[in-house]
Amino acid sequence: MSDRLSILQINDSHGYLDLHDEYFWKNGKQTYREVGGYARITSYFNEVRDENSDAVIVLDNGDTIHGTYPVVKSEGEVLIPILNRMGFDAWTAHWDFAYGPDHLVKFAEKLNYPLLAINCYYEDSEELVFDPYKIVKRDGVKMGLIGIANTIVDKTMPDRFSEGIYLTLGNEELPKYIEELRVENNVDLIVVLSHLGYPQEVKLAKQVDGIDVLVSGHTHNRLYEPSEVNDTIIIQSGCHGSFIGRLDLDVDQGKIRGYNHELVEIDESVTPDREVQKMVNEVLEPHEDMLGEVVGETKLGLARDKVMETRMDNLLLKALIDASGAEMAFSNGWRYGSPVPPGKITVRDLWNIIPTNPPVSVCEITGRELWNMMEENLGNTFARDPYNQMGGYVKRCYGVNVYFKIENADGLRIQEFFVGDERLDKDKTYKASFVTTQGIPARYGKNRKDLNINAIKALKGYISKNSPVKPEIEGTIIPI
Ligand SMILES: [Zn+2]
Repeated sequence: MSDRLSILQINDSHGYLDLHDEYFWKNGKQTYREVGGYARITSYFNEVRDENSDAVIVLDNGDTIHGTYPVVKSEGEVLIPILNRMGFDAWTAHWDFAYGPDHLVKFAEKLNYPLLAINCYYEDSEELVFDPYKIVKRDGVKMGLIGIANTIVDKTMPDRFSEGIYLTLGNEELPKYIEELRVENNVDLIVVLSHLGYPQEVKLAKQVDGIDVLVSGHTHNRLYEPSEVNDTIIIQSGCHGSFIGRLDLDVDQGKIRGYNHELVEIDESVTPDREVQKMVNEVLEPHEDMLGEVVGETKLGLARDKVMETRMDNLLLKALIDASGAEMAFSNGWRYGSPVPPGKITVRDLWNIIPTNPPVSVCEITGRELWNMMEENLGNTFARDPYNQMGGYVKRCYGVNVYFKIENADGLRIQEFFVGDERLDKDKTYKASFVTTQGIPARYGKNRKDLNINAIKALKGYISKNSPVKPEIEGTIIPI
């Protein structure tokens, strides 16, 4: 007799604990709907548990405790009772390292399910920081859940994220753990819970035999159908908790005989779990007045919806230029950030756009450095070998125009580069503004300085002067 098992996934929820706007594509146009929220997610988890006699595994790919005001201000603490009520089996991490690895270790101990990572080590002892795997049994099926945290934490992110630790890709370690679980622990199925990103995970599934299900995260892919690679079923489910991935497996004698998949949109038809909604409201209530303040209006919808350039980022970059007087601006190609539909912009929206609220920084940077920085970034985003991809989307730029060939070799993509109306002069020094070392890494530019104004205040100032804002796509980054 075959067993039926459901795997449920959320990934990259980024602190969106209540209903929020999400964008959807329809006939080439973008529409917005309110979706998500932990109370609705909890209800859905419980419905599936009822339906499938508790033969359910619930996984969170991480990017959980970062991205909205109450979550960042409390360094994730406000989420602990909520997460502990939802019934997760395991999670892994990425932006969750933002308050430092020591914080994450302590935070993870407060959850009633483990953070799994085979690829995160202490620098001094070379020992694993977190458990590599967990074995769970449901309805006669024994599963090995293996975690892989995001690998770029110590490579392209601020130094404090990785003090005393380092991360690998996990591809070399993975076969050893699969073997250990299959041979020594006799598990039927191997489920990998990863935050490497979809392109990296597809390569991983091709390279490493024996993964039955790969639950993917980081790149905000909405997989309406799973991918099948080397007998591995891969799912990923959007971001912001706007969707749940549901994979129902028919398992017979330790083998998957068939499956059904659905990318479930958590819309308003899902009744919120009352107890969780109460907890969410208690978290949000003290901040409502401050976050609800209207700062202006936007004529156009703002979203982080495209790899090259977005209106949401252009608004931020215009605010940086306004606050600094620089001729160009740079910020990281962040994927997270709930969209702002046309209409009112609130303080909450500004925190969603840039939840770290870093200072506006300036530096002097040569044309040669600008060229190299952008080549490096295009390589990180589009590297031919997915294992070398370290995005984010392409770095967000304002005041420059870069024309490039996606298909060229790494380091050789840029064809033409303009600053304002003029061709880039490699020997000239330019004045640039930016936010965080992800905007302009520390190895580029000199006379780096933090101005006495932070990003949210810069945005507020720019919007109040220019409302209604209309941040168009400017053609800063153009594939040719
Ligand atoms: Zn991520």
